Amino acid sequence: MTALDSALARKDIAHHLHPQTNLRLHEQVGPLVMERGEGIYVFDTQGQRFIEGMSGLWCATLGFSQPRLAQAAYQQLLTLPYQQTFAHRTTQPVIDLAAALIERAPSTLSKVIFQSSGSEAIDSAIKLVRYYHTAIGQPQKHKLIARQRGYHGTTLAAASLTGLPNMHKGWGDPLADVIHVRCPHLYRQGQPGESEEAFSTRLAAELEQTILEHGPETIGAFFAEPVMGTGGVIVPPTGYFAKIQAVLRKYDILLVADEVICGFGRTGHYWGSQAMGLKPDMLTCAKGLSAAFQPISALLISDTIYQAIADQSNVLGGFGHGYTYGGHPVAAAVALETLALYDELDILGNVAAVAPRFQAGVRAFADHPLIGEARGIGLMAALEFVADKDSREPFPAHLKVAARVAEALQRRGVLLRALGDTLVMAPPLIIDAAQVEVILTAVAESLDEVYAELAQ
Ligand code: PLP
Repeated sequence: MTALDSALARKDIAHHLHPQTNLRLHEQVGPLVMERGEGIYVFDTQGQRFIEGMSGLWCATLGFSQPRLAQAAYQQLLTLPYQQTFAHRTTQPVIDLAAALIERAPSTLSKVIFQSSGSEAIDSAIKLVRYYHTAIGQPQKHKLIARQRGYHGTTLAAASLTGLPNMHKGWGDPLADVIHVRCPHLYRQGQPGESEEAFSTRLAAELEQTILEHGPETIGAFFAEPVMGTGGVIVPPTGYFAKIQAVLRKYDILLVADEVICGFGRTGHYWGSQAMGLKPDMLTCAKGLSAAFQPISALLISDTIYQAIADQSNVLGGFGHGYTYGGHPVAAAVALETLALYDELDILGNVAAVAPRFQAGVRAFADHPLIGEARGIGLMAALEFVADKDSREPFPAHLKVAARVAEALQRRGVLLRALGDTLVMAPPLIIDAAQVEVILTAVAESLDEVYAELAQ
């Protein structure tokens, strides 16, 4: 039976508009309808089992069956399903979650505001950059710097920060105040023979040049994922963030660490900022904050920013920002239990135990004839496909090589994600050593299968 034969699939095609999907193609191929989850596995309506090798969208850190998170939600739903956080109101889960986050956060951060998604956290950060600089008498410092291939979400403002052309095509002009600088990807952006350190030095010099061209007095913040996720798991070169931060400090430009993917152990450290040496003035997180059991995100800010915006809200008579569901008590209760589970299950210990073999297995694919670069850190990795290893020429887009490998993997019961010329992997952080081997074996077989097809 094909997907199109089921009544459920026909209903989906009739009524549901799928994001990040070719809508006409969807009418032809229909949906993959998932029904239930167990550990790192999900099962479709036909009963086929898949390893969720992407944790959904990098988010289901604890897998798909965690009774304590279900209980936390149920208990809060019974007790008090909703309260707002506007105008002095709050609930205990929100108070406890804010305290738990600050306790775990990089030491530069002192206050938290909640939203429901990563994009909203980024929007809040953009607005706070403006509000803060206005509060300290520099309202002209509203331009933002982000990086090519960075991903920060899809609201108008977050999509404007995003440096992926596919997120801009067809949507009209992004916000004018965003400047994109070079992606820190040595394989694609390095010069022949350039060392990581020299590449970092060049990127910092380029950043400074860009700042001077636009006028440092107009630039409010630099947004960066510690390790780029959706851009293709780009781990920055040695020395990168130290050199970038020296430039930012010189011109009083805030650093916003977008930890929506990196936070909560994905890189092998609690925060990507710790893995990569960032000292952020603001930090956004989501996804792993609730292990994806509830939609919730958080924006953490430094005390310096807090003091300035608190004074400003006093002058203006209020802090004119917030969402109905920001600080939702059910989402907060689940997030609080998630943080407790990370500690109790020693999630960082598990990542430390399985990541070395995962990374070594992924790196070994660099020898495969289809692969130009194999890269990653912790439990995130990518394989970049090339038609020619020496020239690094990509395959023609119409061959859809990464997508074909992802399809071959799906037939083997492993879900990974093709993003342009790369195949990305980010399994749940509870994955065990045997399950890592299953993914690696399926990748090896799928690469060979597609290579044989291309060779014909
Ligand atoms: N920032 C980063 C680094 C992300 O990876 C994402 C989503 O993948 C977002 C922001 C946006 O999050 P959301 O999809 O929850 O709006």
